Amino acid sequence: EKVILNGKITLKTDIKVDFEDRGYQFGDGIYEVIRVYNGQLFTSKEHLNRLMASAKSISLAIPFTAGEIEGHLQQLIQENQLENGMIYMQFTRGVSPRNHAFPAPAIDSVYVAYTKPILHSSENATAGVKTILTEDIRWLRCDIKSLNLLGNILAKQKAADAGCFEALQHRDGIVTEGSSSNVSIVINGKVKTHPATNLILNGISRQVMLGLCKDNGIPFSEQTYTTEELLQADEVFLSSTTAEILPVIEIDGKAVGNGTPGPFTRKLQKLFQDEVAKQCGS
Ligand code: PLP
Repeated sequence: EKVILNGKITLKTDIKVDFEDRGYQFGDGIYEVIRVYNGQLFTSKEHLNRLMASAKSISLAIPFTAGEIEGHLQQLIQENQLENGMIYMQFTRGVSPRNHAFPAPAIDSVYVAYTKPILHSSENATAGVKTILTEDIRWLRCDIKSLNLLGNILAKQKAADAGCFEALQHRDGIVTEGSSSNVSIVINGKVKTHPATNLILNGISRQVMLGLCKDNGIPFSEQTYTTEELLQADEVFLSSTTAEILPVIEIDGKAVGNGTPGPFTRKLQKLFQDEVAKQCGS
């Protein structure tokens, strides 16, 4: 199995984490997850633009263009003969003796990427998933896809402990997003999702979903909504690169709607699959 280290294809067994890597010691870095369908990257431009934006917002210099990185990822897909799966990639601020301030003068970032096959299991997509509601305890720059994921991890573990798939987070009663997904509701045939502010990660799947609403005459708004609206919504669904669009059928043990995936969610799942087929072949 091959991986990328600093733009070069190498063997997975040839790379090691340095204990002074700032990603390891501080979570000082950023990452992306990009889906591969039929050997093709899905929405790679959008993901790489977000990677560049995340890097810029923490003043981390990436010594490659988005086009060059896309080339590396395509090469890795070929090397590993990945058909369906994902690529995980991260950049850290490099290896330097531990000190909170950035290394001065600046040092090289450390860039790694690997592939992982995803065997299509549609059980969650067809049956829907159970969730819990929890307080959003994260920092105020959730728009950055940072390696610092403690808040997300603690929320996800709370869901796992309750036998649930995802934790839906709220800040002072306003629903923000899942621990590793965006969350949207449907009320009277209208899709509502938190606006792309500093309080959520502007998911690429979220953006694809909103584009599909727009192109298919499904009313939508990027507007905040309360936990009461969430609990009374006709439908609730998650979106993310790995989960695509997932119906939420339960929140804190209470059924969403009639407790089965609703028609708008199923329609959006179908449109999403069509979009994947359009962009990556089927
Ligand atoms: N929100 C959070 C906190 C995430 O970690 C993710 C990533 O999976 C998402 C939203 C969804 O983003 P995307 O659709 O770009 O995968």
